[in-house]
Amino acid sequence: MTQALLLRDLRERLGDAHVLQPDTHELSAYQRDWRKRYEGRALAVLRPGSTGDVAAVMALAARHGVAVVPQGGNTGLVGGGVPDGSGTQLLLSLQRLNRVRGVDSANLTLVAEAGCVLQHVQQAAQAQGLLFPLSLAAEGSCTLGGNLSTNAGGTQVLRYGNARELCLGLEVVTVDGRVWNGLSGLRKDNTGYDLRDLFIGAEGTLGVITAATMKLYPQPRARMTALAACDSLQAAVDLLTQAQQHCGAALTGFEVMNALSLALVARHFPQLAQPLGPRPWTVLLELSDSESEAHARERFESLLERALERGLIDDAAVAESLAQSQAMWHLRESIPLAQSEEGLNIKHDIALPVSRIPAFAERCDAALAQAFPGSRLVCFGHLGDGNLHYNLQAPAGVPAAEFLRTHEAAVNTLVYDQVLAHDGSISAEHGIGQLKRGELAARKDAVALQLMRAIKAALDPQGLMNPGRVL
Ligand code: FAD
Ligand code: ZN
Repeated sequence: MTQALLLRDLRERLGDAHVLQPDTHELSAYQRDWRKRYEGRALAVLRPGSTGDVAAVMALAARHGVAVVPQGGNTGLVGGGVPDGSGTQLLLSLQRLNRVRGVDSANLTLVAEAGCVLQHVQQAAQAQGLLFPLSLAAEGSCTLGGNLSTNAGGTQVLRYGNARELCLGLEVVTVDGRVWNGLSGLRKDNTGYDLRDLFIGAEGTLGVITAATMKLYPQPRARMTALAACDSLQAAVDLLTQAQQHCGAALTGFEVMNALSLALVARHFPQLAQPLGPRPWTVLLELSDSESEAHARERFESLLERALERGLIDDAAVAESLAQSQAMWHLRESIPLAQSEEGLNIKHDIALPVSRIPAFAERCDAALAQAFPGSRLVCFGHLGDGNLHYNLQAPAGVPAAEFLRTHEAAVNTLVYDQVLAHDGSISAEHGIGQLKRGELAARKDAVALQLMRAIKAALDPQGLMNPGRVL
């Protein structure tokens, strides 16, 4: 009865077309996550069109004691944005809040709504001759609100920071339907607790982000990309050190890919050229230069020459055109897709101090090989940020789903024990969601967990915001 009243009120506010119910529509795009690991059933999928709509929805849900699961582009990798199977949760899609409200070129800021697709935010900045540097392979469908809620990283963190560091202000709807307008474009504002940083990375468990003020940068004059072949991860780390000394802030990307990650790309996307052929490690470097293309090229070539002389790399290919540069990035960005073509795998998104990565990998690779003979390690990621995607694929010929079912818990224990032994983190950029909730409870500092629970209880006393995620 109360559900029927709630749905009636929601329809009245949003219009029938924006209150979708599982029995009347094909809703799998909302109810199943990108990795197809989690599939739930919502009481209804709501598509509000404004901040006012979101506030009205939240007030109604709070009054009826109904839980709300916010969702942006549904590209998250930890099951944070899909409802559970109970059929009692409201799925709140922010996709219709998709306006760029304005660009302030002198302040180097942009205000955009939470449902703006990341690529559209980048384009809005570009249209003013400016750069919005957040960039990741899902940028054609992930949203700014999702990026902030997961504190997304991506490929430019080395120079510009992650989503948190790019955000100056937020507009948030609280669990009981109040609107906090914190869309400050200020770079300095020491007026008490930093509420913005509470909502960033909260994965929708504290409130709904409806808009944000983001930092912009001048467009670089020239951008250069290269691939380099290294024999070991240690050589790749040494190359990173050298590149940072040589290029300073001009070094904007430093990605690594192991042999198997590129072999999977070759198998599933044979049309993509691989200029260096199979190598133990391939590094993708990017330089962004504020002077000129000639200056960038000269810097890049002298860096690579020195690295060759010192034996850090044994081959390199510098992109000669924008198309070649894009093709190099496309290789890197095709790895997650090639992996999902290959079948289910056990994913780890880990962060470590860069200096400890070679020792971690040596230990952990060996321990996995011993405990799970024949298992195949797909290791790639943002080495410049100390962030690896360290994923285990079933041995060739073993059904992936069965390997996952039998070994996932033991693989995770082994990997996360090694991560913590090397002072790392079990989630670098994807978040906790449902996937790592148990690991967080078991492994996070006890005092930190108590403080997190106190914040959750203060902001969401009824536990209605995205329950069962993070904590
Ligand atoms: P969703 O998946 O819809 O939601 C993610 C979480 O945020 C959920 O918990 C949801 O409840 C919450 N949420 C969403 N919107 C709001 C809102 N407005 N208010 C409150 N809570 C909200 N991530 C990286 O960091 N770096 C990468 O390089 C990267 N590469 C990727 C590559 C691929 C191919 C894919 C599929 C994903 C990748 N990701 C990467 C994952 C990344 O987390 C997401 O792509 C993105 O940040 C999530 O945005 P979304 O709009 O899809 O959010
Ligand atoms: Zn990543």
